[in-house]
Amino acid sequence: MLSSRKVMPVACLLWGMHAAVLLAFGTRGQGPRLSDLIQLALGLLTVLTVLGAAKRSDSFGRYFWWLTAFSFSILCTGQALAVVNEVAVRSSSLPWVANFLFTFWFIPFGVALFLDPDHELNGFDSLLMLDLAQAAICSVAAYLFFFYLPARENANSELVHTVWEPYFLVYGLFVAAFLLRSRLAYTKAARALFGRVGCFVLISALSDAAYYYGPGLHLKTGDWFDLVWSAVFLIPLWTASNWNSAGHAELPAAPVQSRAMVIIQVFPLLYPLLILVMSAGIARERIELASIVVFACFACSSARLLVTQHRLLNVQRLLRHEASHDGLTGVRNRMGILGALRVELERSERHDGQVGIIMADADRFKLVNDSFGHDAGDTVLRKIAAEISGCLRPYDYVGRYGGEEFLIVVPGCSAAETVQLAERIRVQVADCALSVSGAPVVVTVSMGVASGSSLEDLEAMLRAADAALYTAKHHGRNRVEVKELRTGVTARAR
Ligand code: GH3
Ligand code: MG
Ligand code: MG
Repeated sequence: MLSSRKVMPVACLLWGMHAAVLLAFGTRGQGPRLSDLIQLALGLLTVLTVLGAAKRSDSFGRYFWWLTAFSFSILCTGQALAVVNEVAVRSSSLPWVANFLFTFWFIPFGVALFLDPDHELNGFDSLLMLDLAQAAICSVAAYLFFFYLPARENANSELVHTVWEPYFLVYGLFVAAFLLRSRLAYTKAARALFGRVGCFVLISALSDAAYYYGPGLHLKTGDWFDLVWSAVFLIPLWTASNWNSAGHAELPAAPVQSRAMVIIQVFPLLYPLLILVMSAGIARERIELASIVVFACFACSSARLLVTQHRLLNVQRLLRHEASHDGLTGVRNRMGILGALRVELERSERHDGQVGIIMADADRFKLVNDSFGHDAGDTVLRKIAAEISGCLRPYDYVGRYGGEEFLIVVPGCSAAETVQLAERIRVQVADCALSVSGAPVVVTVSMGVASGSSLEDLEAMLRAADAALYTAKHHGRNRVEVKELRTGVTARAR
């Protein structure tokens, strides 16, 4: 592939050759053919340069440049068809298709508006594919609106006068959307890419306008105006060959504003809006074609809604889990375990039952940290949580109440039954084989047990279990103590 430093000299050389050809031949002889060929060469050079920029970019930039390459490939196909039509097959449909491709080649560019620079795309992204499908439906609607229906009153393949205004309105909408997206983006790379492409689409639209309304009117292939088309290529060529994603590190250019995030969600509605507006025009003449287009657009939009909904529900589930669980040990966090205790006490109140709790604290845990380091301490904490979980029934709960302190909730168990479970846990933890860097580590836990039967008991239960735990520590650790809620008596359980 051509190195990015050589791209601009080659592009300028091609442009100079184009000027020389137009000067020498103009619309006569080989002029139109050579003019089309040079434009095709510039188009192919742009596709290659853009692919090179995609290769040098990561995440957002890569997808952006791929879509750009897709757009320029459509443009090149149109140009190649025009050349084939000039050189060999003279068919009436070829210029028609070429013109159609020339008119809507920037549609994949539009899909870039939906790219989310904040999230890394990992392989296949169904939302992006649906947006592409929406872009394809938009092209079909545009084909019907701008070409198929007006063509009946116009034999040649050019855009019909009556649709020039809506055509430039669509162009203007794209320019505005890109510039707005550039302002709303908060990574420097996204700002630069959206901004530059916005300027490019604007210049491309201005040259189209000059062709249809201004000095280009009535000019043919081979006339001087062809030089304007080839000069427009120099913009993406310059941008892509100079693109250096490291120079636009994906650091936030400004903090994320929630209002900007909401506005960004409006962009995927751009294609459905265009499709609906064009379908209204199509329906005036061919209602069945309009209804097919609208139905396809509706199917795509509904699929997009379902995919988004599904993702939101998944995120909600994950957030809920994260809010109630401890990141280190995977068991519930303080809020999660207290919530479970509250629910179980309410239930036991209705069913006249009991709920036992165990406050478990690792013995001399500071020593583990001091001897083996914090990472080893974390591993030991995870192991204790796993050993406790292994002793529980499916409807019991365990949560990390504090640093090296766990709270276990045992529904349907009296204090005496909870003590039995605590004893099993104590033995299980003390006997578990733990080693750090090959050296065996012995950990034990001390436990305080309490029980209650209504929500009102919650605070008192926690206080009682804590007091029992304190007693267990005081009496030598690696033991279970129980404190009766009503009598306030702390009893040795082992
Ligand atoms: P005792 O038997 O009296 O409970 O002694 P102890 O050393 O376990 O108690 P102390 O309160 O003196 O120390 C608790 C230690 O637990 C200190 C703290 O660094 C450690 N710790 C708390 N949370 C974490 C954690 O998430 N990871 C690690 N590695 N250590 C933790
Ligand atoms: Mg401790
Ligand atoms: Mg502690």
